Amino acid sequence: MWLSVSSVRRDVAHDVTGRAIVIIDMLRDFIDPAGALSLGDAGQRIIPRVKERLSLARARKDLVLFACDRHRHDDAEFEMFPPHCIEGTPGADIIPELEPERAEVIIPKRRYSAFFGTDLDLALRERSVTEIELAGVCTNICVLYTAADARNLNYRVVVDASAVAGLSEEGHIWALGEMGSTLGCRLLDADVDG
Ligand SMILES: [Zn+2]
Repeated sequence: MWLSVSSVRRDVAHDVTGRAIVIIDMLRDFIDPAGALSLGDAGQRIIPRVKERLSLARARKDLVLFACDRHRHDDAEFEMFPPHCIEGTPGADIIPELEPERAEVIIPKRRYSAFFGTDLDLALRERSVTEIELAGVCTNICVLYTAADARNLNYRVVVDASAVAGLSEEGHIWALGEMGSTLGCRLLDADVDG
């Protein structure tokens, strides 16, 4: 079957809303209670809220991306943290509750920021995205440093405080404060917006 150029272009065309959601590290090793670097209850608690935010983004036809730790077995990060999310292992899988749909974008990363050494910025610019929502873990590590890079690149950043979790409650609260007051992110949960 022959396809005209215009029909091919229509096949790959996307809606452009200017917005994206980036789901960060909702992976078995962080979220499963038995995961290699599990957040325990804090990680389990946010699953329904992250699902809600993801569903909303899908309904609005925002760009959906999953930024996922995917480490080499001897990654230098393991000098600081126990080995986790090693490429090719089940621990590096996105949890089944948040299964990506076809055409949603996976951004593998080896460092805290989802922008560092990845094509996230390109993926966003290709879709004329100017505002990104961040959800996932850890509030004070990968979410915070992704937010910092996003703000340095002039993206508007939205964070629902109930859709992120930290390794500790103190770190979680501190990082929300940093994102709100230092980085100028818009926090959706007024209770913790300090
Ligand atoms: Zn990691």
